[in-house]
Amino acid sequence: MHDLQLLVDLHKGALRQGPGGDDETSRALSLAGIDRTQPLEIADIGCGTGASALVLARQLNAHITAVDFLQDFLDELTVRAERAGLADKITGVCASMESLPFEREQFDVIWSEGAIYNVGFTTGLKDWRPYLKPGGILVVSEITWTTDNRPLEIQQHWDSVYPEIATAAVKQEQLANSGYSMLGYFSLPQHCWLENYYDPMRAQFAELLSANDGSDAARAIVEAERHEIALYERYSDYFSYGVYIGRKTDAN
Ligand code: SAH
Repeated sequence: MHDLQLLVDLHKGALRQGPGGDDETSRALSLAGIDRTQPLEIADIGCGTGASALVLARQLNAHITAVDFLQDFLDELTVRAERAGLADKITGVCASMESLPFEREQFDVIWSEGAIYNVGFTTGLKDWRPYLKPGGILVVSEITWTTDNRPLEIQQHWDSVYPEIATAAVKQEQLANSGYSMLGYFSLPQHCWLENYYDPMRAQFAELLSANDGSDAARAIVEAERHEIALYERYSDYFSYGVYIGRKTDAN
């Protein structure tokens, strides 16, 4: 079986495909100062199985266009939305975040948790901005250094997998330079990584291995995930996801 399908199988039964939490999604909503009664059009980019889309649909008077390039994740999202009685508020769209099928100024809010790194932070900020209405809100979580200095091992790891990692000060400057004014920032606490993401993932390892008869490909995926978890456990003092909340400024 192909690696991508193995990754999909490992992750599709989970409530989230990256670090985060319902309370943290709500916190970002509050910091954004979003009116919970006003009708809103929201895009959730890289939505996975719907962790944030479901919270937004539950708490807001909004229609959410939930985008992911993996149909299996969108299918799970549809089931979850139906079960929660929220299906009429969420539309899944299978598309790449690199070429979004949207109109200019279509959305009041663009939301993206644990996903913008797939295009890169600065590229995403720039490319997604036209889809926001004037004064629209961007909420995006992004891998961020939480200290000015760090051990070489973790520096080298991130330099190789995502060299755009930087401190919140640098990221906030990038937001400002990309046409957003900052409304708020916070860093995801540890439980968003461990209890909400890594623990449920870890619980799936045995099943993935047995479903694939311990194949080399399945073992390699489990090993890679274990390595990532070990790095987080060792170095969680030095990095996290930062949640950035900005407003589109008027300038073009
Ligand atoms: N926001 C979800 C999922 C985060 S994981 C959560 O917080 O749980 C990142 C998601 O981005 C995955 O669902 C993955 O399928 C999706 N993704 C990765 N590259 C993409 C691309 N180029 N276009 C669209 N979606 C992409």
